[in-house]
Amino acid sequence: MELFADYHTHTTHSDGRGTPADNIRAAAGRGLKALAITDHGPKSVGIGVAGPETFLAIKEEVAGLAPGFPEMEVLVGAEASVIGRDGRLDLPGEIIEKLDLLIAGLHPYHLPASPGDALHFTLPNLAVRLRRSLWEKMRNTNTKALIEAVYNYPVDFISHPDLMMPADLDELARACAGRETALEVNTGHHYNKENIVRAAARWGAGLAINSDAHFPETVGNLAAGAALVEKLRFPAEMVINATL
Ligand SMILES: [Zn+2]
Ligand SMILES: [Zn+2]
Repeated sequence: MELFADYHTHTTHSDGRGTPADNIRAAAGRGLKALAITDHGPKSVGIGVAGPETFLAIKEEVAGLAPGFPEMEVLVGAEASVIGRDGRLDLPGEIIEKLDLLIAGLHPYHLPASPGDALHFTLPNLAVRLRRSLWEKMRNTNTKALIEAVYNYPVDFISHPDLMMPADLDELARACAGRETALEVNTGHHYNKENIVRAAARWGAGLAINSDAHFPETVGNLAAGAALVEKLRFPAEMVINATL
Protein backbone atom coordinates (compact mmCIF):
# COMPACT_ATOMS: atom_id res chain seq x y z
CA MET A 1 0.00 0.00 0.00
CA GLU A 2 1.36 3.35 -1.01
CA LEU A 3 0.52 6.43 1.04
CA PHE A 4 0.67 9.91 -0.47
CA ALA A 5 0.09 11.98 2.67
CA ASP A 6 0.93 12.30 6.33
CA TYR A 7 -2.01 14.12 7.90
CA HIS A 8 -0.76 14.37 11.51
CA THR A 9 2.50 16.16 12.39
CA HIS A 10 3.55 18.60 15.11
CA THR A 11 5.85 21.62 15.02
CA THR A 12 7.51 24.04 17.42
CA HIS A 13 4.14 25.83 17.65
CA SER A 14 3.10 23.03 20.03
CA ASP A 15 5.37 20.22 21.25
CA GLY A 16 7.17 19.34 18.01
CA ARG A 17 10.88 19.96 17.46
CA GLY A 18 10.81 21.14 13.86
CA THR A 19 9.34 24.23 12.26
CA PRO A 20 6.60 23.96 9.62
CA ALA A 21 9.34 24.49 7.00
CA ASP A 22 11.33 21.56 8.47
CA ASN A 23 8.30 19.25 8.31
CA ILE A 24 7.44 20.27 4.74
CA ARG A 25 11.04 19.72 3.63
CA ALA A 26 11.07 16.31 5.34
CA ALA A 27 7.79 15.31 3.69
CA ALA A 28 9.08 16.38 0.27
CA GLY A 29 12.27 14.41 0.88
CA ARG A 30 10.24 11.29 1.56
CA GLY A 31 8.25 11.68 -1.63
CA LEU A 32 4.92 12.59 -0.05
CA LYS A 33 2.44 14.62 -2.08
CA ALA A 34 0.60 16.10 0.90
CA LEU A 35 1.33 17.00 4.49
CA ALA A 36 -0.74 18.37 7.34
CA ILE A 37 0.64 20.53 10.13
CA THR A 38 -1.61 19.68 13.07
CA ASP A 39 -0.44 21.15 16.34
CA HIS A 40 -2.18 20.49 19.66
CA GLY A 41 -5.12 22.63 20.73
CA PRO A 42 -4.53 25.21 23.51
CA LYS A 43 -6.04 23.23 26.41
CA SER A 44 -3.61 20.34 26.21
CA VAL A 45 -1.47 21.02 29.28
CA GLY A 46 2.18 21.64 28.52
CA ILE A 47 1.98 20.58 24.88
CA GLY A 48 -0.68 22.85 23.32
CA VAL A 49 -0.35 26.01 21.22
CA ALA A 50 -0.28 29.35 23.05
CA GLY A 51 -3.85 30.22 22.01
CA PRO A 52 -6.45 29.43 19.35
CA GLU A 53 -5.22 32.26 17.09
CA THR A 54 -1.83 30.51 16.82
CA PHE A 55 -3.45 28.38 14.11
CA LEU A 56 -4.08 31.48 12.02
CA ALA A 57 -0.42 32.45 12.39
CA ILE A 58 0.60 28.95 11.27
CA LYS A 59 -1.67 29.32 8.23
CA GLU A 60 0.06 32.54 7.29
CA GLU A 61 3.48 31.03 7.82
CA VAL A 62 2.62 28.03 5.65
CA ALA A 63 1.11 30.23 2.93
CA GLY A 64 4.48 32.00 2.78
CA LEU A 65 6.35 28.69 2.49
CA ALA A 66 4.07 27.03 -0.07
CA PRO A 67 5.59 28.65 -3.21
CA GLY A 68 8.90 27.00 -2.29
CA PHE A 69 7.28 23.55 -2.47
CA PRO A 70 5.08 23.58 -5.58
CA GLU A 71 4.80 19.77 -5.63
CA MET A 72 3.48 19.55 -2.09
CA GLU A 73 -0.03 20.20 -0.82
CA VAL A 74 0.32 21.54 2.72
CA LEU A 75 -2.74 21.58 4.94
CA VAL A 76 -2.96 23.45 8.22
CA GLY A 77 -5.13 21.73 10.78
CA ALA A 78 -5.30 21.07 14.48
CA GLU A 79 -5.25 18.08 16.77
CA ALA A 80 -7.93 19.33 19.12
CA SER A 81 -8.46 17.74 22.52
CA VAL A 82 -11.84 16.63 23.81
CA ILE A 83 -12.15 18.54 27.08
CA GLY A 84 -15.67 17.65 28.24
CA ARG A 85 -18.20 14.85 28.41
CA ASP A 86 -20.32 16.63 25.80
CA GLY A 87 -17.51 16.25 23.27
CA ARG A 88 -16.38 19.87 23.52
CA LEU A 89 -13.10 20.52 21.72
CA ASP A 90 -10.48 23.01 22.85
CA LEU A 91 -10.96 25.26 19.82
CA PRO A 92 -13.74 27.72 18.99
CA GLY A 93 -15.84 27.22 15.87
CA GLU A 94 -14.55 30.39 14.22
CA ILE A 95 -11.01 28.96 14.25
CA ILE A 96 -12.10 25.46 13.23
CA GLU A 97 -13.88 26.78 10.14
CA LYS A 98 -10.62 28.32 8.94
CA LEU A 99 -8.67 25.07 9.23
CA ASP A 100 -8.03 22.66 6.36
CA LEU A 101 -8.24 19.61 8.62
CA LEU A 102 -9.64 18.80 12.04
CA ILE A 103 -8.39 15.95 14.20
CA ALA A 104 -10.10 15.20 17.52
CA GLY A 105 -8.40 13.14 20.19
CA LEU A 106 -8.33 12.26 23.84
CA HIS A 107 -5.30 13.39 25.86
CA PRO A 108 -5.25 12.80 29.62
CA TYR A 109 -3.55 16.08 30.53
CA HIS A 110 -5.99 18.79 29.53
CA LEU A 111 -7.84 21.70 31.12
CA PRO A 112 -11.44 20.54 31.45
CA ALA A 113 -14.37 22.50 30.05
CA SER A 114 -16.14 22.72 33.43
CA PRO A 115 -15.76 21.71 37.10
CA GLY A 116 -18.17 18.83 36.44
CA ASP A 117 -15.94 17.62 33.62
CA ALA A 118 -12.92 17.86 35.91
CA LEU A 119 -14.69 15.63 38.44
CA HIS A 120 -16.31 13.13 36.07
CA PHE A 121 -13.99 13.12 33.05
CA THR A 122 -10.49 14.55 33.52
CA LEU A 123 -9.60 13.29 37.01
CA PRO A 124 -11.03 9.76 36.76
CA ASN A 125 -9.25 9.36 33.41
CA LEU A 126 -5.98 10.16 35.16
CA ALA A 127 -6.82 7.66 37.91
CA VAL A 128 -7.95 4.91 35.54
CA ARG A 129 -4.47 3.39 35.29
CA LEU A 130 -4.30 2.99 39.06
CA ARG A 131 -7.86 1.87 39.67
CA ARG A 132 -9.09 -0.76 37.25
CA SER A 133 -12.59 -0.44 38.74
CA LEU A 134 -12.93 2.89 36.96
CA TRP A 135 -12.01 1.49 33.58
CA GLU A 136 -15.42 0.35 32.34
CA LYS A 137 -17.12 3.55 33.46
CA MET A 138 -14.50 5.78 31.88
CA ARG A 139 -14.56 3.76 28.69
CA ASN A 140 -18.28 4.56 28.40
CA THR A 141 -17.78 8.24 29.24
CA ASN A 142 -14.90 8.60 26.78
CA THR A 143 -16.70 6.80 23.98
CA LYS A 144 -19.74 9.04 24.40
CA ALA A 145 -17.58 12.17 24.47
CA LEU A 146 -15.76 11.20 21.27
CA ILE A 147 -19.02 10.37 19.50
CA GLU A 148 -20.47 13.75 20.55
CA ALA A 149 -17.39 15.44 19.09
CA VAL A 150 -17.83 13.50 15.84
CA TYR A 151 -21.45 14.64 15.61
CA ASN A 152 -20.88 18.26 16.67
CA TYR A 153 -17.75 19.13 14.70
CA PRO A 154 -16.43 18.47 11.19
CA VAL A 155 -13.89 15.93 12.47
CA ASP A 156 -11.78 14.37 9.70
CA PHE A 157 -10.40 11.65 11.93
CA ILE A 158 -9.94 10.57 15.55
CA SER A 159 -6.31 10.46 16.61
CA HIS A 160 -4.86 7.35 18.28
CA PRO A 161 -8.20 5.90 19.46
CA ASP A 162 -8.06 3.89 22.70
CA LEU A 163 -4.58 5.13 23.62
CA MET A 164 -4.13 6.33 27.22
CA MET A 165 -7.88 6.95 27.63
CA PRO A 166 -10.01 3.86 26.89
CA ALA A 167 -12.76 3.93 24.26
CA ASP A 168 -15.08 1.34 22.72
CA LEU A 169 -13.73 0.98 19.21
CA ASP A 170 -16.85 -0.68 17.81
CA GLU A 171 -19.17 2.08 19.05
CA LEU A 172 -16.74 4.68 17.79
CA ALA A 173 -16.29 3.07 14.37
CA ARG A 174 -20.05 2.80 13.94
CA ALA A 175 -20.54 6.52 14.68
CA CYS A 176 -17.57 7.51 12.54
CA ALA A 177 -18.82 5.52 9.56
CA GLY A 178 -22.07 7.49 9.63
CA ARG A 179 -20.26 10.83 9.71
CA GLU A 180 -17.48 9.99 7.24
CA THR A 181 -14.95 10.46 10.02
CA ALA A 182 -11.95 8.14 9.88
CA LEU A 183 -10.09 6.39 12.68
CA GLU A 184 -6.35 6.81 12.88
CA VAL A 185 -3.68 4.15 12.71
CA ASN A 186 -0.98 6.13 14.50
CA THR A 187 2.54 4.87 13.80
CA GLY A 188 4.06 7.23 16.38
CA HIS A 189 2.60 5.42 19.38
CA HIS A 190 3.32 1.80 20.15
CA TYR A 191 0.16 0.05 21.27
CA ASN A 192 -2.23 -2.51 19.86
CA LYS A 193 -3.78 -1.04 16.71
CA GLU A 194 -5.19 -4.25 15.23
CA ASN A 195 -8.51 -3.70 16.98
CA ILE A 196 -8.85 -0.28 15.37
CA VAL A 197 -8.44 -1.74 11.90
CA ARG A 198 -10.85 -4.60 12.69
CA ALA A 199 -13.51 -2.26 14.11
CA ALA A 200 -13.23 0.08 11.11
CA ALA A 201 -13.62 -2.90 8.77
CA ARG A 202 -16.61 -4.23 10.71
CA TRP A 203 -18.53 -0.94 10.62
CA GLY A 204 -17.36 0.53 7.33
CA ALA A 205 -15.33 3.40 8.75
CA GLY A 206 -12.30 4.83 6.99
CA LEU A 207 -8.75 4.84 8.30
CA ALA A 208 -6.00 7.45 8.22
CA ILE A 209 -2.41 6.23 8.61
CA ASN A 210 -0.24 8.94 10.14
CA SER A 211 3.12 9.39 11.83
CA ASP A 212 2.10 11.87 14.55
CA ALA A 213 5.67 13.08 14.01
CA HIS A 214 7.12 15.37 16.68
CA PHE A 215 10.48 15.48 14.83
CA PRO A 216 11.10 16.22 11.15
CA GLU A 217 13.00 12.91 10.98
CA THR A 218 9.82 10.91 11.61
CA VAL A 219 7.53 12.79 9.20
CA GLY A 220 6.23 10.23 6.70
CA ASN A 221 7.16 7.21 8.85
CA LEU A 222 4.09 5.29 7.75
CA ALA A 223 5.36 1.87 6.70
CA ALA A 224 4.34 0.04 9.88
CA GLY A 225 0.77 1.32 9.53
CA ALA A 226 0.59 0.34 5.86
CA ALA A 227 1.92 -3.12 6.72
CA LEU A 228 -0.69 -3.56 9.45
CA VAL A 229 -3.69 -2.67 7.27
CA GLU A 230 -2.33 -4.88 4.49
CA LYS A 231 -1.86 -7.78 6.86
CA LEU A 232 -5.49 -7.43 8.01
CA ARG A 233 -6.65 -7.03 4.38
CA PHE A 234 -8.32 -3.70 5.04
CA PRO A 235 -9.47 -2.19 1.70
CA ALA A 236 -7.09 0.49 0.40
CA GLU A 237 -9.99 2.58 -0.93
CA MET A 238 -11.10 3.10 2.68
CA VAL A 239 -7.71 4.56 3.70
CA ILE A 240 -7.98 8.31 3.19
CA ASN A 241 -4.28 8.79 2.44
CA ALA A 242 -3.67 5.71 0.30
CA THR A 243 -2.76 6.02 -3.36
CA LEU A 244 -5.22 3.97 -5.39
ZN1 LIG B 1 -2.45 13.07 20.25
ZN1 LIG C 1 -0.43 14.31 17.75
